[in-house]
Amino acid sequence: MTDKNARDYVELEDRFGAHNYHSLPVVLTKGEGVFLWDVEGRRYFDFLSAYSAVNQGHCHPKIVNALIAQARTLALTSRAFHNDRLGPFEKYVTELFGYTRVLPMNSGVEAVETALKLCRKWAYLKKGVPDGKAKIVVCEGNFHGRTIAAISASTSEESRAGFGPYLPGFEVIPYNDERTLARACSDPSVAGFLVEPIQGEAGVVVPDEGYLRRARELCSERNVLFMADEIQTGLGRTGLMLACDHESVRPDVLILGKALSGGMLPVSAVLADDEVMLCIRPGEHGSTYGGNPLACAVALAALDVIRDEHLALNAARLGEVFRAGLRAIRSPAIESVRGKGLLTGVVIRAEGGKTAWEYCLALAKEGLLAKQTRENIIRFAPPLVITEEQLHEALAVIKNVF
Ligand code: PLP
Repeated sequence: MTDKNARDYVELEDRFGAHNYHSLPVVLTKGEGVFLWDVEGRRYFDFLSAYSAVNQGHCHPKIVNALIAQARTLALTSRAFHNDRLGPFEKYVTELFGYTRVLPMNSGVEAVETALKLCRKWAYLKKGVPDGKAKIVVCEGNFHGRTIAAISASTSEESRAGFGPYLPGFEVIPYNDERTLARACSDPSVAGFLVEPIQGEAGVVVPDEGYLRRARELCSERNVLFMADEIQTGLGRTGLMLACDHESVRPDVLILGKALSGGMLPVSAVLADDEVMLCIRPGEHGSTYGGNPLACAVALAALDVIRDEHLALNAARLGEVFRAGLRAIRSPAIESVRGKGLLTGVVIRAEGGKTAWEYCLALAKEGLLAKQTRENIIRFAPPLVITEEQLHEALAVIKNVF
């Protein structure tokens, strides 16, 4: 296969794969830290980090070693039996985030599904919502994944169109609007509020300061579960371990994914306390791969790396440097720059000539990989292991392109 060039690989995917992605024409073969290399040997700064799954950097040696050691010993048993990696991981992750229990899954959207099920069950068992009537409040512009439940909650036509009928039981309200949330939560059949602390896919939409705190208070007042989807914002990305930590908000249900495995394999998790988590009983939910020994060993190592290497702190510090650098670029194409930690969105002016996609192509040509989200916004999210020197080098590339 090594004699193929990039175009050959693109053609193979085009010919034999489903056409559910519109990828940049770059074919990657190797990663290390903040860098990726393509099949023709070109090196790139990775400023997407697999949508924030690779916070720890590509192929982090500690995580790779954990993966290899565990793969050699035991990878999968199913939950029909116990295994000696699950308990230690569960103890570690619950203590780290301050919950009494965790339910491990695989992809992010599965964790979202788990949270939705947990919330409905809690509503019937604890809140007294009549069976089949529970509602979950979600926000306009949300992204929680691609299952039928997630797209039923979505307001993106691209995600939804042609996939109906949709699941009932969602109420959509504007993001960053506490008054509408207050009104919605006054309905006694509302069981939960599912929210991204920063809307990543919507273009790094940062809500006003105080919104999450107020939303948390409203949920507490109305006995509504505050469920934070921290799949993209969590695990150091925004400069603290969780984006909710910026407002000292503790969700009732915390949803994690992506960087929970440092990009090694799909690992996700839902954390909650007994009152909520024990509403689900044996046989009512599960997954063949959820909580497998390999995933547990990898996730434990991935969390260790975030903590031991102070990646949240690095994200907080370098995020400020990065946005200041972006704001200093004098380009008519840049409408605005926003973000938190190392999660940044650059809004491209619509009438500026080039599209965000074209800027991403130009950036790739100059050795930096990023991808537009929502047509006109470029998201920059490098691995959190990036150094200040590397960041300045990357800024020079971005400045050059703009
Ligand atoms: N929730 C959020 C906030 C996300 O950003 C994503 C993925 O981008 C998901 C859920 C879905 O995760 P996955 O693609 O692993 O299913």
